[in-house]
Amino acid sequence: MSAPASECLFCKIARKEVPAALVYEDEEVLAFKDIFPQAPVHLLIIPKAHCPGLGDVTPEAAAAVGRIPQVAAQLAKDHGVATGGWRLLSNCGPDAGQTVFHLHFHLLGGKPLGAKLCV
Ligand code: 5GP
Ligand code: ZN
Repeated sequence: MSAPASECLFCKIARKEVPAALVYEDEEVLAFKDIFPQAPVHLLIIPKAHCPGLGDVTPEAAAAVGRIPQVAAQLAKDHGVATGGWRLLSNCGPDAGQTVFHLHFHLLGGKPLGAKLCV
């Protein structure tokens, strides 16, 4: 279920009410280290405005969300994985394993990530 913005964990991180290891911030987009990294580089990139998931992007939110691949590419360079390769993905809904219902993209890299996208 999606928490309201007042209770949403990633909204709280965006409002600096919950600490996180921030690696990028602009007016619309924030990136921080995943608390349980699954790869040597595991960052989460979010639009600051609350949006439950990839299926809920409004026209108003689309511009910020659309900039996330460019932010990811810059972060991949900054974190030394641009050459080796990296993955950007968003889990949408329970079957995809989404656990935090504020849209976020995982940026993963720093090791061979494997070919399987589902098991
Ligand atoms: P999802 O499973 O929804 O695709 O991804 C949620 C991600 O958020 C997980 O990889 C999880 O480790 C991360 N996460 C959960 N709680 C926190 C937190 O409080 N801080 C940070 N930095 N990451 C979190
Ligand atoms: Zn939120």
